[in-house]
Amino acid sequence: MNSRFLWKLFAGYAFLILLATGLVGGLVGRSISSATLSETDVRLQSVAVLSRALAVDALESGGSADELGSLLRSVGASLDARITLFDADGAPFVDSQLEAVAPTAGPRTQRPEVTGALASERTVVTRWSASEGRRLRFLALPLEVDGRRAGVVRVSLPLDALDARLDELKEALFVGTSVAILVALGLGYLYARRVTRPLLEMADAATDIAAGAFDRRVESASNDELGRLARAFNSMSRELRSSVEAMLSDRNKLSAILASMVEGVVAVDRDERVVHMNAVAGRLLKVDPRRVSSHPIWEITRIHEVSQVLSESMERRALVEREIRLAGSPDRILRLASSPLETEQGLSGAVLMLDDVTQLRHLETMRRDFVANVSHELKTPITAIRGLAETLIDDPDVDGETRGRFLGRVLVQVERMADLVNDLLSLARFESGASDLEPSPMDLRLPVRLSVRGLTTASETKGVQLHIDLPAEPVLVDGEEEALRQAVSNLLDNAIKYAPAHSAVEVRVLRDATHAMVEVEDHGPGIEPVHQARLFERFYRVDKARSRELGGTGLGLAIVKHIALAFGGEVSVDSQPGRGSIFRIRMPLAVEEPTGAVAHVG
Ligand code: ADP
Repeated sequence: MNSRFLWKLFAGYAFLILLATGLVGGLVGRSISSATLSETDVRLQSVAVLSRALAVDALESGGSADELGSLLRSVGASLDARITLFDADGAPFVDSQLEAVAPTAGPRTQRPEVTGALASERTVVTRWSASEGRRLRFLALPLEVDGRRAGVVRVSLPLDALDARLDELKEALFVGTSVAILVALGLGYLYARRVTRPLLEMADAATDIAAGAFDRRVESASNDELGRLARAFNSMSRELRSSVEAMLSDRNKLSAILASMVEGVVAVDRDERVVHMNAVAGRLLKVDPRRVSSHPIWEITRIHEVSQVLSESMERRALVEREIRLAGSPDRILRLASSPLETEQGLSGAVLMLDDVTQLRHLETMRRDFVANVSHELKTPITAIRGLAETLIDDPDVDGETRGRFLGRVLVQVERMADLVNDLLSLARFESGASDLEPSPMDLRLPVRLSVRGLTTASETKGVQLHIDLPAEPVLVDGEEEALRQAVSNLLDNAIKYAPAHSAVEVRVLRDATHAMVEVEDHGPGIEPVHQARLFERFYRVDKARSRELGGTGLGLAIVKHIALAFGGEVSVDSQPGRGSIFRIRMPLAVEEPTGAVAHVG
């Protein structure tokens, strides 16, 4: 088990065991040696006292040294001790292990026990005996004969047997304590493991939880502090889980809200580093929102106004709005609105809302132009009518013929205004979004026939021949008859108007695998390429004077375009100046069969 805590605990435990057993072993060993020694001393003492009594007795009764020697030899032999007698000068004169003692046997200084006993009382010494070549315990008692100090009785015992016994005892003690230490260490390891296991488990669980595994629990079987810790740990991880989940769900909600917003949102901190950017903002600022987090907004966008608006709103602690134009093809207009982000801790950054208002501004411009155009178009007939009416009022004597002519001109202007108003109403009706058209499958040949019929008189008046070329089979499209009739009529009307007298105008209906087409071809003046793209704009005219002269409003082709778009189609022009033009409405074929019978108009 790789746990530093376990080994620390175990090391401390092992140290304590070793210290305790070492101390106990040492003390026991020492007390065994001292007990054995004092037991020896007791023996030496009793032998010495006995020998002294025998020696005093023999000396006082005037016995010879030999007699005393043999007496002490037998005592020494039976008591397994060596008994030596010294005279008052410290020289040996009887020895239980020697037949005769040489008077000069060794210097006195080598026998501290003898010197000690001569000088004072009982002396006990352990020392190396050179004569015997081993360690001995000596006990010496002063010898007093007839009330005077006559020498010393010394008894000695070899210590090697004792040492051997002590060694044996110590060995046994050592083996015993070693076994005890091993067992204690083994048990200590098991114990340390038992104590550290729940802690380790908790440490592992904490690591797992930190990595996001909030389901992780630890066992809490025991009732002690560790059990309590485990239970506290589990309840903490449960709470952590629920708060993290709540936090995540809040964050997800917020991200979902920000992601689904139509406006771009950028949140920055006080140093103008990006905290969050939603996808729309990324698109508007042309950056990848996943790669901008923590980067300064200026570094990311390089748009001076963006960081200016942010810092201004943080400085003034107020909403700051601005509109900027970003160069490109086409140019884009962005509306920026930055408000400071205030939290309980104070200002923590700012939130910038970005709105692409290009389309809006474009529409506004279009609307302004449109109103100006309409006003202008109405002003011309109104001015004319006013002039004619004023002339008639000013001159009541005007003759009947002139009056009739004037009134005729008034009528022409009124019709012009009526045409304009009608065209405006049509445009309003067909314009995308405002359209109330309900397309249904119908035969495209039908509105073409109707419009040709409606313009036959006009073509005949101008001397233009109308050629109509229709397929034999019905051509089904999703459309509305009246609207398509109006579209084809507008094209045909233009063609008749611009075609030279006695030329031909052709109307064709064609189809391919997916689309149907109506073509109106004339052999008139044609249109310069520069004008072709703008021809379908409202009030766009190539030649204003000529258009007015021909009674045009400048709205005819715009109406055609919106009708075609309303049915999922498109309108285009193919024209060569001086040779003529082909206007073409192209729309998808209907998928379904018509429900009703196809009406035929001959
Ligand atoms: P208008 O009422 O002036 O005809 P339109 O929207 O129908 O308005 O046409 C726009 C302009 O396109 C016209 O003023 C004219 O200059 C040009 N135009 C349209 N049809 C033709 C055509 N068949 N041949 C030449 N020019 C045409």
